[in-house]
Amino acid sequence: MFKTLNDKLDLAFKHLKGQTRITDLNISNVIKDIRKALIDADVNFNIVKEFTDKVKTEAIGTKVIQAVRPDQLMVKIVQDELVNLLGGSVQQFIVEEKFSIILLAGLQGTGKTTFAGKLAYYLKNNKNKKTLLVACDVYRPAAVEQLSILAQQIGTNVYSNKESNNPVQIALEGIDFAKANHFDTVIIDTAGRLSIDTAMMDEILQIKKATKPNHILYVLDSMMGQDALSVAKSFHDVTNFSGVVLTKIDSDARGGVALSVKYTLQTPIYFSSTGEKVDNLEVFYPDRIAQRILGMGDIATFVEKAQTQFDDAQAEKLEKKLRKNQFDLQDFLEQTQMIQKMGSLKDMLSYIPGVSKAVKDVDIKDDAFKPMQALIQSMTPAERKNPDIIDMSRKNRIIKGSGRSMQEINQLLKQFEEMKKMIQKMGKNPMAGLSRLGGQFKR
Ligand code: GDP
Repeated sequence: MFKTLNDKLDLAFKHLKGQTRITDLNISNVIKDIRKALIDADVNFNIVKEFTDKVKTEAIGTKVIQAVRPDQLMVKIVQDELVNLLGGSVQQFIVEEKFSIILLAGLQGTGKTTFAGKLAYYLKNNKNKKTLLVACDVYRPAAVEQLSILAQQIGTNVYSNKESNNPVQIALEGIDFAKANHFDTVIIDTAGRLSIDTAMMDEILQIKKATKPNHILYVLDSMMGQDALSVAKSFHDVTNFSGVVLTKIDSDARGGVALSVKYTLQTPIYFSSTGEKVDNLEVFYPDRIAQRILGMGDIATFVEKAQTQFDDAQAEKLEKKLRKNQFDLQDFLEQTQMIQKMGSLKDMLSYIPGVSKAVKDVDIKDDAFKPMQALIQSMTPAERKNPDIIDMSRKNRIIKGSGRSMQEINQLLKQFEEMKKMIQKMGKNPMAGLSRLGGQFKR
C-alpha cells in the first residue's frame, strides 16, 4: 500500500539531511522530487502542481526552530498537506436511526458487490443495524449468488427476484420486504458495466428517483488509476452521488486515485476496502492514510483491528499476566493466532510505527508463525507455562511431534526469553506488548 510513493518521498526528504536551514536553493531539489514522486504515483498534474506550490510556500515561510531539523519539518509540512489533499478530517458515514436506503453504483469488477457485504457487516457490528441486501443486477445472474454467499457469512438476508428484469421494481420490492421484515437498512447493489454508458446512468437515475436513497455511494477501484476518476466525474455530474468508497487499496502500490478523489470530485471518501474478506473495510481517515504514505505506521488502525479480535476479558487476563510477568508460551501462541486473524502479517506490521519502515522491503510470509505454533502445540501445558523445564530430551520429543528442527525450537525459546525481557522493560500495556510481539517476527 503506497509503497512506491513512500520510497520516493523518503528520497526527496534526504536532500535536507544535514542542512541547518531551508533555503530557496536546497528546497528546489526536494520539491522537484516530491513532484516526481506524486506524478509517478499517478496523481493528476494540476493537483501535483498545487500541492508542491503549497508545500514550498509553507516550507519557506516556516521558521526552523532548533529542536526540529529541516528534514523533519519538511515531513510535517508534507504530512499536513497530504491530510488536506485526502479530504481533511474524517467523514463519518451516517445512517438514519429508523430506516436507511443506500444505493451502490460503479463499474463492473470494481468491488461493488463485495463492498455491499462489507458495509452490511460494518453496519451490523458498529451501528447495530439489520441490513437487507437487494440484488438489482439483473444482467449478471452470478451477482445474486455472490450476494447470497456474502449474506450467509455475515448473517443477513438478500432480496432478489429472478422473475423480473426490472431493477427499479426489484429495488422497490426489496424496500417493502425490508420494512415488512424489520430491517432498518437496505443496500441496493446495482449492475455495473465495463465502461460507463447512458443506459447505466439512466438505470441508476431511475432507481434513485423511485427509491430516494439516503446515500448513493460510488465504488471506485483504486487500481484503475486516473481513468477511474474521469469516469467517476461524469457519473457524479449526472447522479450527484453522496460519497466514494475506494476499493482494492491493498493492491495499489501507487495511491494516485486516493490522493486525487477529493480534489476531483469534491465528495467525501467514506471507506476504503482493503481485501477480499468481509471484514477488510476501514473508515477512511485522511490523517492515518497520510501517516501510512509517509511510512509512519498507523497505530490507531492497528489497535482497532486488534480490538475486533480481542475482547475485554481476554485483554484483562493478558494485562494481569503481563503485570505479574507470567506471560507464557500459551499466551504467545494465542497472540500469534489473534494477529493472524487481524489480517496479512506484513500489513499488520506495517501499521506499527518504526516497524513499518523496517519491514517495507522484507518478504514476510503469512505463515511465518507456523513453525512456532507447531512447536508450541507439541508442548505439554506445563512446558508452555514454564519453558525453563524444556531440556534436551523434551526438545527432542517436541521437534519430533511438530516436525520442526532443533534450530527452530532453540530460536523460539530464545526469542521468547527476549520478548519477556522486553515486556518487562516496556511496562504493562498489553497493546504495546502486542506490537512488540509482532516486531519479533520481522527478522
Ligand atoms: P463488482 O462487479 O463491482 O460487484 O465487483 P466484485 O465485488 O465482484 O469484485 C470483483 C473482484 O475484486 C472480486 O474478485 C473481489 O474479490 C475483488 N475485490 C473486491 N474488493 C477488493 C479489495 O478491496 N481488495 C482486493 N484485493 N480485491 C477486492
